[in-house]
Amino acid sequence: MVLSILNTEQPVSLIAEVALLSPPFVTLSYSLPKVFVPEFWKVGQRVVLPLGSGVRIGVLLALKPQTEITNNSQTKDIVLKDLIWSLDKKSFFSESYLRVLIQLSHRLFLPIGQILASVLPIGLRSNQLKLCVFNGQKPKKYTLKELRFFDEETYRKLAELWASGQGGIIERNINTLENELCELCVDPPWAVRPSAKRQIALLELLWENGALNRKIIQDKLGAEANESLKRLSELGFVKVRPAQGEEAEADEIQKIWEKVPLNEEVSAFELTNAQQEVVDKLKDSLDTHQRSSHLLHGITGSGKTVVYLELLKHCLAQGRSVILLAPEVALAIKLKNDLQKRFPQQKIILSHGYQTPTLRESIFRQVSEAQEALVIIGTRSSLFLPLKNPGLIILDEEHDASFKQDEGLVYQAKELAYAIVQEYNAMLLLGSATPDIKSFQATKQGRLTLHSLPERVGGGTLPQVELVDIRHLTPTDGILAKPSQEALLETINKGEQAVILLNRRGYAPLIYCMQCSEPIKCPHCDIALTYHKARERVVCHYCGYNYAFPAPCPTCKSLNFVPFGEGTEKLEESLSGILPPDVKILRLDRDNARRAGRMEEILAAFARKEAQVLVGTQMLSKGHHFPDVTLAIVADADLGLNLPDYRATERSFQLFVQSAGRAGRGSKAGKVLIQTRNLNHYCWDYVKSTDFSGFFEVELQKRKRMKYPPFTNLALIRLSFPVEWKEGYKAMELFAEIYKKEAETLDVAVLGPAPAPLSMLRGRRRYNCLLKAQNWQHIRRIFQVGLQSNPFKDKIRMHLDLDPVNMM
Ligand SMILES: [Zn+2]
Ligand SMILES: [Zn+2]
Repeated sequence: MVLSILNTEQPVSLIAEVALLSPPFVTLSYSLPKVFVPEFWKVGQRVVLPLGSGVRIGVLLALKPQTEITNNSQTKDIVLKDLIWSLDKKSFFSESYLRVLIQLSHRLFLPIGQILASVLPIGLRSNQLKLCVFNGQKPKKYTLKELRFFDEETYRKLAELWASGQGGIIERNINTLENELCELCVDPPWAVRPSAKRQIALLELLWENGALNRKIIQDKLGAEANESLKRLSELGFVKVRPAQGEEAEADEIQKIWEKVPLNEEVSAFELTNAQQEVVDKLKDSLDTHQRSSHLLHGITGSGKTVVYLELLKHCLAQGRSVILLAPEVALAIKLKNDLQKRFPQQKIILSHGYQTPTLRESIFRQVSEAQEALVIIGTRSSLFLPLKNPGLIILDEEHDASFKQDEGLVYQAKELAYAIVQEYNAMLLLGSATPDIKSFQATKQGRLTLHSLPERVGGGTLPQVELVDIRHLTPTDGILAKPSQEALLETINKGEQAVILLNRRGYAPLIYCMQCSEPIKCPHCDIALTYHKARERVVCHYCGYNYAFPAPCPTCKSLNFVPFGEGTEKLEESLSGILPPDVKILRLDRDNARRAGRMEEILAAFARKEAQVLVGTQMLSKGHHFPDVTLAIVADADLGLNLPDYRATERSFQLFVQSAGRAGRGSKAGKVLIQTRNLNHYCWDYVKSTDFSGFFEVELQKRKRMKYPPFTNLALIRLSFPVEWKEGYKAMELFAEIYKKEAETLDVAVLGPAPAPLSMLRGRRRYNCLLKAQNWQHIRRIFQVGLQSNPFKDKIRMHLDLDPVNMM
């Protein structure tokens, strides 16, 4: 029985199609070695294959009868090479899983191998593995390349050991340097001597990138970094710990949340009538085991999470798995914590892109091997876990832009989730207080079923919204107008809390050189550098370029600067001048929430009322619940309204309503002040009355008129070339012609290529070409033609972004 995978007599007549997990990511055909029975090979296994003079790893996509291949006259004479070995005894991926990814690969116009490679943790696609066999003696290890060149007899012996269960442990040579994580323990300014340049470089590196392993640090800063690391860890500025401790770290963060009481809406065991009605309908739908898609529109504080929890329980009872997605890691951890309190016995897997490769690998394996129904909570990348039987996928805060991945593999989590529920006959539930206008339109067209929770749990009312005119404020005035300051003081005097939202981090967004009459800019991105006071540096928010400041102007060497504008860091500082000295202010933005657990600490401290005011970027508009907040101030509403993006108003509307949702969630009434110079904008009436359908109607009419989604399909071809390459501009004209010519025969509107709003990034000039069409296929066609006729492949980079979320 144990030898059943070995072949004795039957000829092997199957051909394997394998997707390569390394460049060029193509799908190739291989024959199967005669030593194994055909059943040894399974679709979804990771396999070792010969290519050129080396070996590679691939995923077995299909097994086809030889006749099917040889009937094709073109390939008749090709002699195929044998696969070498299989890395998995069972399929690692199910056929359904592969079908979903193949569909995605068609949509994104990328080879399936490239998609698999970008979703698999490094350890699962590395060819630096060893095959280990036990022969009653010391285990013997072979590299994969050695396997390729064994003579038939040795190969057969290995196969026999493998078949009898004496082999198969495959391990990666883990570089010990990769397994030590170094992380910052203190925020800037750091108390090190200015002459300690190496220490400062290391601190800056960790500040910009978060925890890094020692190998990356050495690669970036050289071996001397070890000395600095030693010194800084003695000082307690940096901690070095084993990378596998990440699970423990997540537990640490969880502990911070545990001190925060559950939202009333989650802790209540009684459902409200509205919740019960929605839950009943959705449960009925789950019971049919038919694919279905729903939108849950629940106003802020209406208890959407409770609906999720009830459905999750129901789905698990059916023996099917659940994926619950949040727009960011902190919210995912919070959700996991809430859920764990409600279901203490249930094992819940947390999954997100910031986990170490080692941890991600172990989660991938765990999910692939699981027999029981699982609960996964995480961010968008969790959809790529190889779950066997998903029954329910929930996207909370579905309107959030973070569900679209912009860099690397460009995909929209909602579309991927939709494809998964189609494949598995599962349910997709999108939830939001401010749905995406496309989702809203889909409910009108019957592609999503709409459910509503129109009231706050506990009968709380939505806050009153008022506009504050800031047209008279000059750049050197403080950013808070008088009425806002007064409202803030009044709130604090009543012993209540306030949040102030300013979507601009740092101290001063512009450092103006009086001599040059120009702001200092990033040399790689042509974007003004932001001054960060605590770090004593100016920083590019696009590429991270930074240097110590004050320093002479890079152009004229003068030291005559004027800072302009106000970021969160400055706002925090100027508030302490306005408010009584005993008032505590907390700040939450990407700068001071860089260290793991820091964001949770800040939010938890605010929830415990250790401060009266919380200042922050849009991070704080998302899903947090503070019962004593009765005032929310949006410090500069125009920042978002003026963005060069067709969704600027929609996004701003969502942000305002979400920010308003932070106020008055407890028993006390709330108030929202929105500071703007744009008092006549049409969105205000709808913001004030939180009239979603009214806003959507107006916005949809505008989109229809301007031919924007959801009335057309929109795509961006992103082109870029090195700044120093002068012929680049000519080349862009050439592409304009190529695209236009191709578009003539298809029904596609082509705009550009024109310089992107962010026209330079990381030393490259950026151009965008906007395509509008009814048919996605036509858009892909135009991209393909450009790709194939690119005469400057080494200079011009080209990406297709379907339904772009980021227009910059
Ligand atoms: Zn830059
Ligand atoms: Zn200057």
